[in-house]
Amino acid sequence: MADAKTPRKSSAKTTAATTKAAAPKKAPSRRSPSRSASKTEIPTLISTDPATGERLAEVFQTLPGEVAGIVENARKVAPEWAAIHPKGRAGILKEVRYRIHERSDDIVETISRENGKTRAEALVHDVLPTLLMFAYMERAVARTLKPQRIGRLLGLPMGASAYIDWRPFGVVGAIGPWNYPFFNTFLAFTSALFAGNTVVIKPSEVTPQVGELIKDVLEPLPTGVATVIQGGGDVGAALVDAPCDKISFIGSPGTGRRICEGAAKHLTPVVMELGGKDAAIVCSDANLDVATSGVLWGSFFNSGQTCCSVERIFVSDDIADRFTEAFAEKLAKLRQGSDGEIGPLTFKRQLDIVQRHVKDAIKDGARLVAGGPDEGRKNTNGSLWYAPTILDQVTDDMAVVREETFGPVVSITRVRDDEEALRRANSGFNLTASVWSKDSRRAGRIASGLKAGTVTINSHGDTLGQPWTPWGGVGESGFGRLGGDLGLKEFSVPVHVNKNLTPKLKRLWWYPYDDAMVDTIKAVATIVGSSDGRAKRKAVGTVVRNAGRVLRSRL
Ligand code: NAD
Repeated sequence: MADAKTPRKSSAKTTAATTKAAAPKKAPSRRSPSRSASKTEIPTLISTDPATGERLAEVFQTLPGEVAGIVENARKVAPEWAAIHPKGRAGILKEVRYRIHERSDDIVETISRENGKTRAEALVHDVLPTLLMFAYMERAVARTLKPQRIGRLLGLPMGASAYIDWRPFGVVGAIGPWNYPFFNTFLAFTSALFAGNTVVIKPSEVTPQVGELIKDVLEPLPTGVATVIQGGGDVGAALVDAPCDKISFIGSPGTGRRICEGAAKHLTPVVMELGGKDAAIVCSDANLDVATSGVLWGSFFNSGQTCCSVERIFVSDDIADRFTEAFAEKLAKLRQGSDGEIGPLTFKRQLDIVQRHVKDAIKDGARLVAGGPDEGRKNTNGSLWYAPTILDQVTDDMAVVREETFGPVVSITRVRDDEEALRRANSGFNLTASVWSKDSRRAGRIASGLKAGTVTINSHGDTLGQPWTPWGGVGESGFGRLGGDLGLKEFSVPVHVNKNLTPKLKRLWWYPYDDAMVDTIKAVATIVGSSDGRAKRKAVGTVVRNAGRVLRSRL
Protein backbone atom coordinates (compact mmCIF):
# COMPACT_ATOMS: atom_id res chain seq x y z
CA MET A 1 0.00 0.00 0.00
CA ALA A 2 1.62 3.24 -1.18
CA ASP A 3 1.23 6.78 0.24
CA ALA A 4 0.00 9.80 -1.73
CA LYS A 5 1.45 12.51 0.48
CA THR A 6 0.36 15.75 -1.15
CA PRO A 7 0.00 18.38 1.57
CA ARG A 8 -3.48 19.74 1.93
CA LYS A 9 -4.33 23.31 1.15
CA SER A 10 -5.70 25.45 3.95
CA SER A 11 -9.24 24.86 5.10
CA ALA A 12 -12.05 25.86 2.77
CA LYS A 13 -13.75 29.18 3.19
CA THR A 14 -16.70 28.84 5.52
CA THR A 15 -19.79 30.93 5.97
CA ALA A 16 -18.88 33.13 8.88
CA ALA A 17 -22.33 33.51 10.35
CA THR A 18 -22.52 29.93 11.51
CA THR A 19 -18.94 28.70 11.64
CA LYS A 20 -16.24 29.58 14.11
CA ALA A 21 -12.58 28.69 14.18
CA ALA A 22 -12.10 28.68 17.94
CA ALA A 23 -14.65 27.69 20.53
CA PRO A 24 -16.17 30.60 22.41
CA LYS A 25 -18.83 29.37 24.79
CA LYS A 26 -21.40 31.97 23.78
CA ALA A 27 -22.53 32.27 20.19
CA PRO A 28 -22.71 35.72 18.61
CA SER A 29 -26.24 37.03 18.61
CA ARG A 30 -26.04 37.72 14.85
CA ARG A 31 -26.24 33.89 14.40
CA SER A 32 -29.98 34.00 14.46
CA PRO A 33 -32.25 36.96 15.10
CA SER A 34 -34.65 34.73 17.00
CA ARG A 35 -32.03 33.80 19.57
CA SER A 36 -30.78 35.78 22.47
CA ALA A 37 -27.11 34.98 22.95
CA SER A 38 -27.31 36.20 26.52
CA LYS A 39 -29.71 33.52 27.62
CA THR A 40 -28.95 30.63 25.25
CA GLU A 41 -25.78 28.63 25.04
CA ILE A 42 -25.82 27.41 21.48
CA PRO A 43 -24.26 23.98 21.08
CA THR A 44 -21.75 23.46 18.32
CA LEU A 45 -20.75 20.65 15.98
CA ILE A 46 -17.04 19.90 15.73
CA SER A 47 -15.49 19.54 12.29
CA THR A 48 -12.32 17.43 12.19
CA ASP A 49 -9.91 16.22 9.51
CA PRO A 50 -9.87 12.41 9.67
CA ALA A 51 -6.56 12.30 7.80
CA THR A 52 -4.74 14.09 10.64
CA GLY A 53 -7.15 14.26 13.57
CA GLU A 54 -6.84 18.08 13.37
CA ARG A 55 -9.79 20.10 14.62
CA LEU A 56 -10.94 22.28 11.74
CA ALA A 57 -13.86 24.38 12.97
CA GLU A 58 -17.01 24.47 15.03
CA VAL A 59 -20.40 25.10 13.53
CA PHE A 60 -23.38 26.37 15.47
CA GLN A 61 -26.27 23.97 15.74
CA THR A 62 -29.94 24.55 15.28
CA LEU A 63 -31.76 23.93 18.55
CA PRO A 64 -34.38 21.15 18.36
CA GLY A 65 -36.94 23.61 19.73
CA GLU A 66 -36.43 25.90 16.73
CA VAL A 67 -37.19 23.28 14.10
CA ALA A 68 -41.02 23.36 14.14
CA GLY A 69 -40.92 27.15 13.54
CA ILE A 70 -38.53 26.72 10.60
CA VAL A 71 -40.85 24.10 9.07
CA GLU A 72 -43.78 26.46 9.61
CA ASN A 73 -41.94 29.21 7.69
CA ALA A 74 -41.26 26.74 4.86
CA ARG A 75 -44.97 25.87 4.86
CA LYS A 76 -45.93 29.55 4.47
CA VAL A 77 -43.72 29.86 1.39
CA ALA A 78 -44.80 26.50 -0.08
CA PRO A 79 -47.95 27.60 -2.00
CA GLU A 80 -46.04 30.37 -3.79
CA TRP A 81 -43.21 28.01 -4.82
CA ALA A 82 -45.73 25.35 -5.90
CA ALA A 83 -47.62 27.90 -8.02
CA ILE A 84 -44.59 28.55 -10.25
CA HIS A 85 -44.71 26.53 -13.48
CA PRO A 86 -42.10 23.71 -13.44
CA LYS A 87 -40.20 25.48 -16.23
CA GLY A 88 -40.08 28.64 -14.11
CA ARG A 89 -38.84 26.70 -11.09
CA ALA A 90 -36.18 25.05 -13.26
CA GLY A 91 -35.08 28.53 -14.35
CA ILE A 92 -34.66 29.62 -10.74
CA LEU A 93 -32.96 26.38 -9.66
CA LYS A 94 -30.34 26.56 -12.39
CA GLU A 95 -28.79 29.46 -10.45
CA VAL A 96 -27.92 26.88 -7.78
CA ARG A 97 -26.17 24.77 -10.42
CA TYR A 98 -24.14 27.78 -11.54
CA ARG A 99 -23.19 28.57 -7.95
CA ILE A 100 -22.11 24.97 -7.25
CA HIS A 101 -19.94 25.13 -10.34
CA GLU A 102 -18.44 28.49 -9.35
CA ARG A 103 -17.60 27.21 -5.87
CA SER A 104 -16.57 23.70 -6.94
CA ASP A 105 -12.90 24.09 -5.87
CA ASP A 106 -13.98 25.15 -2.38
CA ILE A 107 -16.51 22.35 -2.24
CA VAL A 108 -13.97 19.71 -3.28
CA GLU A 109 -11.43 20.96 -0.76
CA THR A 110 -13.93 21.13 2.12
CA ILE A 111 -15.37 17.69 1.41
CA SER A 112 -11.91 16.14 1.10
CA ARG A 113 -10.76 17.79 4.31
CA GLU A 114 -13.79 17.08 6.48
CA ASN A 115 -14.89 13.70 5.10
CA GLY A 116 -11.42 12.39 4.24
CA LYS A 117 -12.16 11.25 0.71
CA THR A 118 -9.60 12.00 -1.96
CA ARG A 119 -9.98 15.20 -3.96
CA ALA A 120 -10.61 13.18 -7.09
CA GLU A 121 -13.51 11.41 -5.38
CA ALA A 122 -14.96 14.64 -4.00
CA LEU A 123 -15.03 15.97 -7.55
CA VAL A 124 -16.23 12.80 -9.30
CA HIS A 125 -18.73 11.56 -6.71
CA ASP A 126 -20.01 14.69 -4.98
CA VAL A 127 -19.69 17.72 -7.25
CA LEU A 128 -20.20 16.28 -10.73
CA PRO A 129 -23.28 14.13 -9.96
CA THR A 130 -24.92 17.08 -8.21
CA LEU A 131 -24.40 19.24 -11.32
CA LEU A 132 -25.68 16.40 -13.53
CA MET A 133 -28.73 15.94 -11.31
CA PHE A 134 -29.65 19.63 -11.60
CA ALA A 135 -29.00 19.67 -15.35
CA TYR A 136 -31.22 16.60 -15.80
CA MET A 137 -34.05 17.77 -13.54
CA GLU A 138 -34.12 21.19 -15.21
CA ARG A 139 -34.93 19.48 -18.51
CA ALA A 140 -37.08 16.65 -17.18
CA VAL A 141 -39.35 18.30 -14.65
CA ALA A 142 -41.91 19.92 -16.96
CA ARG A 143 -42.22 16.79 -19.13
CA THR A 144 -42.39 14.36 -16.20
CA LEU A 145 -44.89 16.27 -14.10
CA LYS A 146 -47.23 17.46 -16.82
CA PRO A 147 -50.82 16.33 -16.19
CA GLN A 148 -51.20 12.76 -17.44
CA ARG A 149 -54.38 11.60 -19.22
CA ILE A 150 -55.53 8.16 -18.09
CA GLY A 151 -58.12 5.64 -19.27
CA ARG A 152 -59.04 7.40 -22.53
CA LEU A 153 -60.76 4.33 -24.04
CA LEU A 154 -62.35 2.93 -20.92
CA GLY A 155 -63.42 6.30 -19.56
CA LEU A 156 -65.35 7.32 -22.66
CA PRO A 157 -68.21 4.76 -22.38
CA MET A 158 -68.47 5.74 -18.71
CA GLY A 159 -68.88 9.37 -19.79
CA ALA A 160 -65.69 10.42 -17.99
CA SER A 161 -62.34 11.89 -18.81
CA ALA A 162 -59.55 11.63 -16.28
CA TYR A 163 -56.05 12.86 -15.66
CA ILE A 164 -53.42 12.78 -12.94
CA ASP A 165 -52.30 16.13 -11.65
CA TRP A 166 -48.86 15.83 -10.00
CA ARG A 167 -48.95 18.17 -7.04
CA PRO A 168 -46.27 18.86 -4.42
CA PHE A 169 -46.71 17.59 -0.86
CA GLY A 170 -45.83 20.92 0.78
CA VAL A 171 -42.76 20.82 3.04
CA VAL A 172 -40.28 17.96 2.65
CA GLY A 173 -37.83 17.28 5.49
CA ALA A 174 -34.59 15.85 4.07
CA ILE A 175 -32.03 14.12 6.27
CA GLY A 176 -28.63 13.21 4.83
CA PRO A 177 -25.58 11.10 5.69
CA TRP A 178 -21.87 11.98 5.85
CA ASN A 179 -20.42 9.56 3.29
CA TYR A 180 -21.26 11.71 0.25
CA PRO A 181 -22.02 14.72 2.40
CA PHE A 182 -22.70 16.99 -0.56
CA PHE A 183 -24.22 14.80 -3.28
CA ASN A 184 -26.27 12.50 -1.06
CA THR A 185 -27.73 15.43 0.85
CA PHE A 186 -28.70 17.02 -2.47
CA LEU A 187 -30.06 13.67 -3.65
CA ALA A 188 -32.39 13.64 -0.65
CA PHE A 189 -34.06 16.94 -1.58
CA THR A 190 -33.33 18.08 -5.15
CA SER A 191 -36.19 16.25 -6.85
CA ALA A 192 -38.52 17.48 -4.07
CA LEU A 193 -37.56 21.10 -4.84
CA PHE A 194 -38.01 20.65 -8.59
CA ALA A 195 -41.41 19.01 -7.94
CA GLY A 196 -42.55 22.21 -6.20
CA ASN A 197 -42.03 21.40 -2.52
CA THR A 198 -40.16 23.60 -0.12
CA VAL A 199 -37.50 21.75 1.83
CA VAL A 200 -35.89 21.81 5.25
CA ILE A 201 -32.54 20.04 5.03
CA LYS A 202 -30.57 18.43 7.82
CA PRO A 203 -27.11 17.39 6.66
CA SER A 204 -25.05 15.01 8.79
CA GLU A 205 -23.54 16.37 12.01
CA VAL A 206 -20.31 14.52 11.09
CA THR A 207 -19.63 16.93 8.18
CA PRO A 208 -21.01 20.29 9.34
CA GLN A 209 -18.78 22.47 7.16
CA VAL A 210 -20.16 20.77 4.08
CA GLY A 211 -23.61 21.53 5.52
CA GLU A 212 -22.60 25.22 5.61
CA LEU A 213 -21.54 25.02 1.96
CA ILE A 214 -24.89 23.52 1.01
CA LYS A 215 -26.52 26.48 2.76
CA ASP A 216 -24.30 28.82 0.77
CA VAL A 217 -25.02 27.37 -2.68
CA LEU A 218 -28.78 27.47 -2.00
CA GLU A 219 -28.57 31.25 -1.43
CA PRO A 220 -30.00 32.14 -4.87
CA LEU A 221 -33.37 30.61 -3.91
CA PRO A 222 -36.20 32.70 -2.46
CA THR A 223 -36.21 32.82 1.36
CA GLY A 224 -37.78 29.79 2.97
CA VAL A 225 -37.73 27.59 -0.13
CA ALA A 226 -34.69 25.60 1.02
CA THR A 227 -33.50 25.96 4.61
CA VAL A 228 -30.52 24.14 6.09
CA ILE A 229 -30.61 23.22 9.76
CA GLN A 230 -27.58 21.77 11.51
CA GLY A 231 -27.46 19.20 14.27
CA GLY A 232 -27.50 15.55 15.21
CA GLY A 233 -30.17 12.93 15.80
CA ASP A 234 -32.20 15.17 18.14
CA VAL A 235 -32.51 17.86 15.46
CA GLY A 236 -33.39 15.18 12.86
CA ALA A 237 -36.03 13.77 15.19
CA ALA A 238 -37.46 17.27 15.71
CA LEU A 239 -37.72 17.66 11.93
CA VAL A 240 -39.67 14.40 11.66
CA ASP A 241 -41.91 15.47 14.53
CA ALA A 242 -42.42 19.06 13.26
CA PRO A 243 -44.24 17.49 11.31
CA CYS A 244 -43.26 17.75 7.64
CA ASP A 245 -45.51 16.67 4.77
CA LYS A 246 -42.97 14.09 3.60
CA ILE A 247 -39.65 12.84 4.94
CA SER A 248 -36.75 11.91 2.68
CA PHE A 249 -34.05 9.98 4.50
CA ILE A 250 -30.64 8.67 3.47
CA GLY A 251 -28.82 6.80 6.22
CA SER A 252 -28.60 3.60 8.19
CA PRO A 253 -31.40 1.02 8.56
CA GLY A 254 -31.45 1.54 12.36
CA THR A 255 -32.07 5.28 12.09
CA GLY A 256 -34.50 4.62 9.25
CA ARG A 257 -36.62 2.47 11.57
CA ARG A 258 -36.68 5.20 14.24
CA ILE A 259 -37.71 7.78 11.65
CA CYS A 260 -40.50 5.53 10.38
CA GLU A 261 -41.79 5.24 13.96
CA GLY A 262 -41.70 9.03 14.40
CA ALA A 263 -43.37 9.60 11.03
CA ALA A 264 -46.11 7.06 11.79
CA LYS A 265 -47.32 9.31 14.61
CA HIS A 266 -48.33 11.94 12.01
CA LEU A 267 -48.93 9.49 9.13
CA THR A 268 -46.15 11.31 7.29
CA PRO A 269 -45.08 9.46 4.12
CA VAL A 270 -41.39 8.62 3.96
CA VAL A 271 -38.79 7.61 1.43
CA MET A 272 -36.00 5.49 2.89
CA GLU A 273 -32.57 5.08 1.27
CA LEU A 274 -30.74 2.73 3.60
CA GLY A 275 -27.65 0.56 3.67
CA GLY A 276 -26.46 -2.41 1.69
CA LYS A 277 -24.17 -5.43 1.80
CA ASP A 278 -23.80 -5.55 -1.93
CA ALA A 279 -22.81 -8.65 -3.82
CA ALA A 280 -20.76 -8.97 -7.00
CA ILE A 281 -21.07 -12.28 -8.82
CA VAL A 282 -18.06 -13.06 -10.98
CA CYS A 283 -18.85 -15.85 -13.43
CA SER A 284 -16.35 -18.36 -14.79
CA ASP A 285 -16.41 -16.61 -18.20
CA ALA A 286 -15.89 -13.07 -16.87
CA ASN A 287 -13.27 -10.84 -18.48
CA LEU A 288 -10.78 -11.11 -15.64
CA ASP A 289 -9.03 -7.81 -16.26
CA VAL A 290 -12.27 -5.81 -16.42
CA ALA A 291 -13.88 -7.69 -13.53
CA THR A 292 -10.91 -7.28 -11.18
CA SER A 293 -10.67 -3.53 -11.98
CA GLY A 294 -14.43 -2.94 -11.72
CA VAL A 295 -14.98 -4.93 -8.54
CA LEU A 296 -11.87 -3.36 -6.98
CA TRP A 297 -13.26 0.10 -7.59
CA GLY A 298 -16.75 -1.02 -6.51
CA SER A 299 -15.31 -2.31 -3.24
CA PHE A 300 -13.00 0.53 -2.27
CA PHE A 301 -14.20 3.81 -3.75
CA ASN A 302 -14.78 6.32 -0.95
CA SER A 303 -12.82 3.86 1.25
CA GLY A 304 -15.76 1.49 1.03
CA GLN A 305 -17.99 3.99 2.84
CA THR A 306 -20.61 3.74 0.15
CA CYS A 307 -24.13 2.38 0.51
CA CYS A 308 -23.66 0.36 -2.68
CA SER A 309 -20.04 -0.71 -2.30
CA VAL A 310 -19.23 -4.35 -2.97
CA GLU A 311 -18.81 -6.08 0.39
CA ARG A 312 -19.26 -9.67 -0.81
CA ILE A 313 -17.67 -11.17 -3.92
CA PHE A 314 -18.91 -14.55 -5.12
CA VAL A 315 -16.47 -15.92 -7.65
CA SER A 316 -16.64 -19.12 -9.66
CA ASP A 317 -14.31 -21.84 -8.36
CA ASP A 318 -12.77 -22.22 -11.85
CA ILE A 319 -11.26 -18.73 -11.80
CA ALA A 320 -11.12 -17.97 -8.06
CA ASP A 321 -7.32 -18.30 -7.70
CA ARG A 322 -6.57 -16.16 -10.74
CA PHE A 323 -9.21 -13.61 -9.72
CA THR A 324 -7.89 -13.33 -6.14
CA GLU A 325 -4.29 -12.95 -7.26
CA ALA A 326 -5.04 -10.27 -9.87
CA PHE A 327 -7.42 -8.47 -7.48
CA ALA A 328 -4.76 -8.31 -4.72
CA GLU A 329 -2.10 -7.20 -7.23
CA LYS A 330 -4.25 -4.29 -8.36
CA LEU A 331 -5.09 -3.35 -4.78
CA ALA A 332 -1.38 -3.16 -3.91
CA LYS A 333 -1.02 -0.30 -6.45
CA LEU A 334 -3.62 1.94 -4.74
CA ARG A 335 -2.22 4.85 -2.75
CA GLN A 336 -3.56 6.12 0.57
CA GLY A 337 -3.79 9.93 0.68
CA SER A 338 -5.91 12.88 -0.35
CA ASP A 339 -4.32 12.92 -3.81
CA GLY A 340 -4.27 9.14 -4.11
CA GLU A 341 -7.09 6.62 -4.37
CA ILE A 342 -7.88 5.73 -0.75
CA GLY A 343 -8.72 8.23 1.98
CA PRO A 344 -9.11 7.57 5.70
CA LEU A 345 -12.39 6.59 7.28
CA THR A 346 -14.54 9.58 8.09
CA PHE A 347 -15.17 9.14 11.78
CA LYS A 348 -14.24 6.98 14.73
CA ARG A 349 -17.41 4.88 14.88
CA GLN A 350 -16.72 3.65 11.36
CA LEU A 351 -13.09 2.74 12.13
CA ASP A 352 -14.25 0.79 15.21
CA ILE A 353 -16.70 -1.26 13.11
CA VAL A 354 -14.07 -2.01 10.47
CA GLN A 355 -11.49 -3.08 13.07
CA ARG A 356 -14.01 -5.31 14.85
CA HIS A 357 -15.26 -7.00 11.68
CA VAL A 358 -11.75 -7.82 10.44
CA LYS A 359 -10.41 -8.88 13.84
CA ASP A 360 -13.36 -11.20 14.56
CA ALA A 361 -13.25 -12.71 11.08
CA ILE A 362 -9.54 -13.54 11.36
CA LYS A 363 -10.09 -14.97 14.86
CA ASP A 364 -12.84 -17.21 13.46
CA GLY A 365 -10.71 -18.55 10.61
CA ALA A 366 -10.89 -16.05 7.74
CA ARG A 367 -7.68 -15.56 5.75
CA LEU A 368 -6.20 -12.13 5.25
CA VAL A 369 -5.37 -11.84 1.55
CA ALA A 370 -4.31 -8.18 1.73
CA GLY A 371 -4.45 -5.23 4.11
CA GLY A 372 -5.57 -5.68 7.68
CA PRO A 373 -4.64 -3.85 10.90
CA ASP A 374 -0.85 -3.95 10.39
CA GLU A 375 -0.77 -2.49 6.89
CA GLY A 376 -0.93 1.02 5.46
CA ARG A 377 -0.71 4.38 7.22
CA LYS A 378 -0.39 4.38 10.97
CA ASN A 379 -2.78 6.47 13.03
CA THR A 380 -1.54 9.35 15.18
CA ASN A 381 -3.45 12.15 16.97
CA GLY A 382 -6.82 10.63 16.17
CA SER A 383 -6.36 10.11 12.42
CA LEU A 384 -8.53 7.33 10.99
CA TRP A 385 -6.61 5.33 8.38
CA TYR A 386 -7.29 1.70 7.60
CA ALA A 387 -5.61 -0.21 4.80
CA PRO A 388 -7.97 -1.64 2.15
CA THR A 389 -8.46 -5.25 3.10
CA ILE A 390 -9.36 -8.48 1.31
CA LEU A 391 -10.51 -11.55 3.21
CA ASP A 392 -11.31 -15.03 1.99
CA GLN A 393 -12.33 -18.28 3.67
CA VAL A 394 -15.13 -16.36 5.41
CA THR A 395 -18.24 -18.10 6.76
CA ASP A 396 -21.86 -16.98 6.72
CA ASP A 397 -22.03 -16.44 10.48
CA MET A 398 -19.25 -13.81 10.53
CA ALA A 399 -20.24 -10.17 11.09
CA VAL A 400 -18.11 -9.21 8.07
CA VAL A 401 -20.50 -11.30 5.93
CA ARG A 402 -23.80 -10.56 7.71
CA GLU A 403 -23.60 -6.87 8.71
CA GLU A 404 -22.86 -3.75 6.71
CA THR A 405 -19.17 -2.95 7.31
CA PHE A 406 -19.17 0.36 5.44
CA GLY A 407 -15.40 0.47 5.14
CA PRO A 408 -12.50 -0.70 2.97
CA VAL A 409 -13.09 -4.41 3.51
CA VAL A 410 -14.32 -7.01 1.04
CA SER A 411 -14.65 -10.78 1.31
CA ILE A 412 -14.21 -13.32 -1.48
CA THR A 413 -16.28 -16.50 -1.44
CA ARG A 414 -15.80 -19.33 -3.94
CA VAL A 415 -18.94 -20.82 -5.47
CA ARG A 416 -19.55 -23.97 -7.52
CA ASP A 417 -22.01 -22.50 -10.02
CA ASP A 418 -24.31 -19.60 -10.85
CA GLU A 419 -27.16 -21.01 -8.75
CA GLU A 420 -25.04 -21.09 -5.61
CA ALA A 421 -23.77 -17.57 -6.33
CA LEU A 422 -27.32 -16.30 -6.71
CA ARG A 423 -28.57 -18.05 -3.57
CA ARG A 424 -25.72 -16.69 -1.45
CA ALA A 425 -25.92 -13.19 -2.93
CA ASN A 426 -29.63 -13.06 -2.11
CA SER A 427 -29.01 -14.22 1.46
CA GLY A 428 -27.66 -10.75 2.32
CA PHE A 429 -29.23 -7.35 1.76
CA ASN A 430 -28.27 -5.71 -1.51
CA LEU A 431 -28.96 -2.09 -2.28
CA THR A 432 -27.41 -2.89 -5.65
CA ALA A 433 -25.73 -6.01 -7.00
CA SER A 434 -23.65 -6.85 -10.04
CA VAL A 435 -22.93 -9.72 -12.41
CA TRP A 436 -19.69 -10.09 -14.34
CA SER A 437 -19.79 -12.29 -17.44
CA LYS A 438 -19.02 -12.09 -21.17
CA ASP A 439 -22.25 -13.96 -21.94
CA SER A 440 -25.09 -11.44 -21.89
CA ARG A 441 -27.80 -14.13 -21.71
CA ARG A 442 -26.15 -15.78 -18.75
CA ALA A 443 -25.62 -12.41 -17.05
CA GLY A 444 -29.22 -11.44 -17.78
CA ARG A 445 -30.50 -14.69 -16.26
CA ILE A 446 -28.55 -14.10 -13.05
CA ALA A 447 -29.50 -10.40 -12.98
CA SER A 448 -33.19 -11.27 -13.18
CA GLY A 449 -32.86 -13.41 -10.04
CA LEU A 450 -30.96 -10.88 -7.92
CA LYS A 451 -32.81 -9.15 -5.08
CA ALA A 452 -31.62 -5.53 -5.25
CA GLY A 453 -32.88 -2.04 -6.12
CA THR A 454 -30.38 -1.76 -8.99
CA VAL A 455 -28.64 -4.59 -10.82
CA THR A 456 -25.65 -3.83 -13.02
CA ILE A 457 -23.92 -6.06 -15.56
CA ASN A 458 -20.13 -5.74 -15.93
CA SER A 459 -20.15 -2.62 -13.75
CA HIS A 460 -20.96 -1.85 -10.12
CA GLY A 461 -22.42 1.03 -8.15
CA ASP A 462 -21.94 3.82 -10.67
CA THR A 463 -25.57 4.48 -11.60
CA LEU A 464 -25.88 6.80 -8.59
CA GLY A 465 -23.95 9.25 -10.73
CA GLN A 466 -26.45 8.85 -13.58
CA PRO A 467 -29.27 11.04 -12.31
CA TRP A 468 -31.72 10.03 -15.04
CA THR A 469 -31.86 6.57 -13.46
CA PRO A 470 -33.91 5.78 -10.36
CA TRP A 471 -32.14 5.07 -7.08
CA GLY A 472 -33.53 3.03 -4.20
CA GLY A 473 -33.54 -0.29 -2.43
CA VAL A 474 -35.62 -3.32 -1.61
CA GLY A 475 -36.27 -4.89 1.80
CA GLU A 476 -33.67 -3.81 4.38
CA SER A 477 -32.01 -1.43 1.92
CA GLY A 478 -35.08 0.79 1.81
CA PHE A 479 -38.06 1.84 -0.29
CA GLY A 480 -39.09 4.68 -2.55
CA ARG A 481 -36.98 6.12 -5.35
CA LEU A 482 -34.78 9.20 -5.61
CA GLY A 483 -33.34 10.38 -8.90
CA GLY A 484 -34.74 10.07 -12.38
CA ASP A 485 -38.36 10.67 -13.30
CA LEU A 486 -39.48 8.35 -10.51
CA GLY A 487 -37.68 10.64 -8.06
CA LEU A 488 -39.72 13.62 -9.27
CA LYS A 489 -42.91 11.58 -8.87
CA GLU A 490 -41.81 10.38 -5.42
CA PHE A 491 -42.26 13.97 -4.22
CA SER A 492 -45.55 14.59 -6.02
CA VAL A 493 -49.03 13.61 -4.92
CA PRO A 494 -50.86 12.00 -7.85
CA VAL A 495 -54.19 13.81 -7.59
CA HIS A 496 -56.76 12.20 -9.86
CA VAL A 497 -59.08 14.71 -11.51
CA ASN A 498 -62.15 13.12 -13.12
CA LYS A 499 -64.61 15.06 -15.28
CA ASN A 500 -68.20 14.01 -16.07
CA LEU A 501 -68.49 14.38 -19.86
CA THR A 502 -72.29 14.18 -19.81
CA PRO A 503 -73.20 16.61 -17.03
CA LYS A 504 -76.83 16.89 -18.22
CA LEU A 505 -77.35 13.16 -17.59
CA LYS A 506 -77.64 11.57 -14.17
CA ARG A 507 -75.25 8.62 -13.79
CA LEU A 508 -76.62 5.13 -14.38
CA TRP A 509 -75.45 3.97 -10.95
CA TRP A 510 -77.09 6.84 -9.04
CA TYR A 511 -80.49 6.40 -7.36
CA PRO A 512 -83.04 4.97 -8.02
CA TYR A 513 -81.87 1.33 -8.22
CA ASP A 514 -84.65 0.37 -10.63
CA ASP A 515 -84.93 -2.73 -12.87
CA ALA A 516 -83.47 -0.99 -15.92
CA MET A 517 -80.39 -0.03 -13.97
CA VAL A 518 -79.89 -3.48 -12.39
CA ASP A 519 -80.41 -5.33 -15.72
CA THR A 520 -78.02 -3.03 -17.55
CA ILE A 521 -75.27 -3.33 -14.91
CA LYS A 522 -75.72 -7.12 -14.89
CA ALA A 523 -75.29 -7.17 -18.67
CA VAL A 524 -72.18 -4.97 -18.44
CA ALA A 525 -70.74 -7.38 -15.82
CA THR A 526 -71.31 -10.25 -18.27
CA ILE A 527 -69.61 -8.35 -21.12
CA VAL A 528 -66.59 -7.63 -18.92
CA GLY A 529 -66.32 -10.86 -16.96
CA SER A 530 -67.82 -13.81 -18.84
CA SER A 531 -65.82 -16.35 -20.83
CA ASP A 532 -68.95 -17.35 -22.78
CA GLY A 533 -69.09 -15.55 -26.15
CA ARG A 534 -72.82 -16.20 -26.62
CA ALA A 535 -73.68 -14.78 -23.21
CA LYS A 536 -71.58 -11.71 -24.00
CA ARG A 537 -73.43 -11.11 -27.30
CA LYS A 538 -76.76 -11.51 -25.51
CA ALA A 539 -75.63 -9.02 -22.86
CA VAL A 540 -74.77 -6.44 -25.54
CA GLY A 541 -78.33 -6.85 -26.83
CA THR A 542 -79.70 -6.23 -23.32
CA VAL A 543 -77.66 -3.03 -22.97
CA VAL A 544 -78.88 -1.74 -26.35
CA ARG A 545 -82.54 -2.66 -25.58
CA ASN A 546 -82.38 -1.00 -22.17
CA ALA A 547 -80.65 2.15 -23.40
CA GLY A 548 -83.83 4.13 -24.07
CA ARG A 549 -85.43 3.21 -20.73
CA VAL A 550 -82.27 3.97 -18.80
CA LEU A 551 -81.75 7.31 -20.54
CA ARG A 552 -85.33 8.40 -19.87
CA SER A 553 -85.00 7.57 -16.16
CA ARG A 554 -81.68 9.46 -15.95
CA LEU A 555 -82.60 12.65 -17.77
P1 NAD B 1 -27.12 7.50 10.27
O1 NAD B 1 -28.37 6.73 10.19
O2 NAD B 1 -26.27 7.36 11.47
O3 NAD B 1 -27.42 9.07 10.13
C1 NAD B 1 -28.05 9.62 8.98
C2 NAD B 1 -28.71 10.92 9.35
O4 NAD B 1 -29.78 10.67 10.25
C3 NAD B 1 -27.80 11.92 10.03
O5 NAD B 1 -28.05 13.20 9.49
C4 NAD B 1 -28.25 11.85 11.48
O6 NAD B 1 -28.04 13.03 12.21
C5 NAD B 1 -29.73 11.59 11.32
N1 NAD B 1 -30.39 10.99 12.49
C6 NAD B 1 -29.85 10.21 13.45
N2 NAD B 1 -30.79 9.84 14.34
C7 NAD B 1 -31.95 10.40 13.92
C8 NAD B 1 -33.29 10.37 14.41
N3 NAD B 1 -33.63 9.68 15.50
N4 NAD B 1 -34.23 11.05 13.74
C9 NAD B 1 -33.92 11.73 12.60
N5 NAD B 1 -32.66 11.79 12.10
C10 NAD B 1 -31.69 11.13 12.75
O7 NAD B 1 -26.31 7.15 8.96
P2 NAD B 1 -24.87 7.63 8.58
O8 NAD B 1 -23.89 6.95 9.47
O9 NAD B 1 -24.85 9.11 8.48
O10 NAD B 1 -24.73 7.07 7.10
C11 NAD B 1 -24.29 5.78 6.83
C12 NAD B 1 -25.46 4.90 6.47
O11 NAD B 1 -26.20 5.49 5.41
C13 NAD B 1 -25.03 3.54 5.95
O12 NAD B 1 -25.88 2.56 6.45
C14 NAD B 1 -25.18 3.69 4.44
O13 NAD B 1 -25.36 2.48 3.76
C15 NAD B 1 -26.40 4.55 4.37
N6 NAD B 1 -26.47 5.25 3.09
C16 NAD B 1 -27.45 4.91 2.20
C17 NAD B 1 -27.51 5.53 0.96
C18 NAD B 1 -28.55 5.16 -0.06
O14 NAD B 1 -28.66 5.85 -1.05
N7 NAD B 1 -29.32 4.10 0.12
C19 NAD B 1 -26.57 6.50 0.63
C20 NAD B 1 -25.60 6.82 1.55
C21 NAD B 1 -25.57 6.20 2.79
